[in-house]
Amino acid sequence: KNNEERRGFEAEVSRLLKLMVHSVYSDRDIFLRELVSNACDACDKLRYEALTKPELQAGEGDFAIHISIDKKASILRISDNGIGMDHDDLINHLGTIARSGTAAFLEKVSGDQKPDLSLIGQFGVGFYSSFMVADSVRVISRKAGSADAWEWESDGEGSYVMRPASRDQHGTSIDVHLKADAKEYLEPSRLRTILQRYSDHISVPIYLDDGDPKSDQTADETPKPVNDGSALWVRPKSDITPDLYTAFYQHVAHAHDEPALVLHTKAEGVISYTALLFIPQNRPMDLFDPARKPRVKLYVKRVFISDDNDELLPGYLRFFKGVVDSEDLSLNISREMLQQNPVVRRIRKALTNKALAELQKTADKDSDRYGKIWDAFGAVLKEGLYEDADRRPALLKLARFRSTHADGLISLADYLGRMKDNQKAIYYVTGNDLAAVRRSPQLEGFRARDVEVLLLCDPVDEFWLSAVNAYEDKPFKSITRGGSDLKDLEPKDPTADAETKDKDASDRHDAAIDSLITALKSLLGTQISDVRSSDRLTQTAACLVAEDNGLDLHLERILRQHQQ
Ligand code: ADP
Ligand code: MG
Repeated sequence: KNNEERRGFEAEVSRLLKLMVHSVYSDRDIFLRELVSNACDACDKLRYEALTKPELQAGEGDFAIHISIDKKASILRISDNGIGMDHDDLINHLGTIARSGTAAFLEKVSGDQKPDLSLIGQFGVGFYSSFMVADSVRVISRKAGSADAWEWESDGEGSYVMRPASRDQHGTSIDVHLKADAKEYLEPSRLRTILQRYSDHISVPIYLDDGDPKSDQTADETPKPVNDGSALWVRPKSDITPDLYTAFYQHVAHAHDEPALVLHTKAEGVISYTALLFIPQNRPMDLFDPARKPRVKLYVKRVFISDDNDELLPGYLRFFKGVVDSEDLSLNISREMLQQNPVVRRIRKALTNKALAELQKTADKDSDRYGKIWDAFGAVLKEGLYEDADRRPALLKLARFRSTHADGLISLADYLGRMKDNQKAIYYVTGNDLAAVRRSPQLEGFRARDVEVLLLCDPVDEFWLSAVNAYEDKPFKSITRGGSDLKDLEPKDPTADAETKDKDASDRHDAAIDSLITALKSLLGTQISDVRSSDRLTQTAACLVAEDNGLDLHLERILRQHQQ
């Protein structure tokens, strides 16, 4: 035992495992999906490596995933002939969590109160989910190109053991030693059902070796895979059920929710590509994490090339996940070359247009569904308003807002339709949260005149508003700016306004205001640039405004915070 090495899990893994082991997550079946998904990824990776180093896969048969059952020993084994892991890979991949958003996830589920288990599903615990059904897990792996194999074993209680092992060919076998209450996963029919449900789209054939000599396959018959084994995105749309799309989405995007939108499109002609893209229902926890990896995988003629490329979609569409497969790229394209590649650039352009068109179609057809997408990802889409000037008109059409005049979301077209006769601008107010901006005293004069104001609460709003001047020739104007003049607009109820019909009273009133203004100016001195009487308030006595050509108040506050 002296070549054994015991190591502790990274603290985050331990916390995650405790959650897995001690909380009964309702859908334990997903552990099999996760292990098969990893096996498929491993085959994809080796297929790519072997493009330039064919010796890595020399003499091996086709890629395959084998699932076998040892009833006596209570072991379920998932085996692949993919890329495999060496000593350091095992430590780095199965002892730590590299995924961004982990800290945020653990924050949400930790604490004394019962963890929200739906979050586990959403976060996706991958390999570690095997500990839901296992009292121990043993991984034997040999990396392609290496002669050494290593064994990793753990009971999920804080540490794991590494020891040298042997394995005939490259790849990985995972032995799941099933808990007493998880013996159902030794039943071939149960496994077959799960595999068909979750793994039919897997593009590597999966063989179930049920250990039963009386089963329908005799030794000399070629065994039949449980799954279809072909890439889902090349199958005809009519053959793909919604469930199949969902299962594929969960695999390819490492996601655990349902897609809110499926975009399956095939282009032929000047450039040819197939794209199968999804919008998740939930905001991933790392949406605004700068270290976040894009989740669109690039395939060339069905061969996986890369999953960490920014080239296929612009940043403001980073919430799309899925695959793009092209016939027009060379299999030898290196990941580094993607950026400069003209074909990639053309695909990106076409795909961006396609994605925006699909969003518009959804907005037109099903505003409820679109509203949910907007609530989750609108803040990201709005980045496009200043990043992508060419598509600004399309993005402004897609933009939705909260406003003083509606409970739900409105479009700019809705706003224009409700503008008053003399109204020259689209008014908005920005702030940190909706409840606070709704209370802005600056809104009072607009309310009194029934003038609609957009309520903007995303940090990105300040940025696009500084780049986008107008929509259909109507300028955007902050109500906290000095010149938001309401004089041209009729009050809804004239008595609610400060103006009075009596001329004498009005003169006396003006004189009183003038002396108040003088007094305030001498009191506040250089801290302010001006004191003015205004039409914007009806109930509050005074409010701060920004100068017409100065910064918006909220923006000024943001900038001040950042300078500290
Ligand atoms: P994810 O698949 O989202 O990266 P997992 O927890 O499922 O997360 O797996 C963690 C990592 O372990 C994978 O990214 C991969 O590097 C490695 N891994 C897991 N299973 C295998 C396997 N069968 N073959 C090779 N590498 C694997
Ligand atoms: Mg995985």
